[in-house]
Amino acid sequence: MKKEKSGKVKHNIVALVYDFDGTLSPNNMQEDTIFKAYKIDKKKFWEKAHKLVVEKGYERTLAYLKLLIWDPAFRKKPIRQDDLRKLASQIEYYPGVQDYFDRIGNFVKKIPEVREWDIQLEHYIVSGGIKDILDGCDIIKHFKKVYACEYEYQNGIPVFPKLVINDTNKTQFLFRINKGKLSLSQSINTHMPATQRRIPFRNMIYIGDGITDVPSMTVTQKNGGSAIAVFDPRKKVPSTVRDMVREKRADHFAPADFREGSLLIKILKRAIQKVVQHISYQSSANLSYDWVSRHG
Ligand SMILES: [Mg+2]
Repeated sequence: MKKEKSGKVKHNIVALVYDFDGTLSPNNMQEDTIFKAYKIDKKKFWEKAHKLVVEKGYERTLAYLKLLIWDPAFRKKPIRQDDLRKLASQIEYYPGVQDYFDRIGNFVKKIPEVREWDIQLEHYIVSGGIKDILDGCDIIKHFKKVYACEYEYQNGIPVFPKLVINDTNKTQFLFRINKGKLSLSQSINTHMPATQRRIPFRNMIYIGDGITDVPSMTVTQKNGGSAIAVFDPRKKVPSTVRDMVREKRADHFAPADFREGSLLIKILKRAIQKVVQHISYQSSANLSYDWVSRHG
């Protein structure tokens, strides 16, 4: 962690935090990968998962994680950890996603203040999907950290979910990014003054697609960051997104088109520039404080 001479953490990182399903990819990742390999009808699977929620009181994410172990299809032929990584190549992305990270990185590098103040860009994923699938994706190399549901495996076969990420506990991971305590073994409940936190919320931009992202968007916005909601460019704007507009749950809304020149890219660039300008302003203010205290 970079510190200034005064011992304060240098708040020079811009963090882009993405949901995955519906945000970077139009489908749920299980559909493009596991369901195709097992020829599973997605509607029937999600109905079964929903039944566990309604009839047995399962938490929504745990319900699908359970089915992927206990449903007859998976008991007959268990999912293997290696296969999940291999199946990741089947994931469909929204237009432009695959080269977006290099493009946005180059855009940021060319902003004069980025060089002046040594500003860094970091990408994160916080997803209710499966980490082992994400680990097999080509785009994974662009991310500083990826949080998603994880299984414990025995002989390569999942036996129990060891990490469950759902809409409300997603916010825990935003605080991990905020405090720089990225490892799950690090406690995030101990008090940390704002000056010591690695990435202030005002340096964060959260990008998500729906109602499951509302708690994360609210935490980001309330603490001074930006929230951007995206939707499938090929479909009509869903009612959930229209509700989010009405309730001002996000700062911006755009089709999930990551190609150069799209509305989303314009919004993302403006949001990044806003953070860069703030860092530049604050860093020069800190320098003037240091100068006065040295010469006082
Ligand atoms: Mg989503």
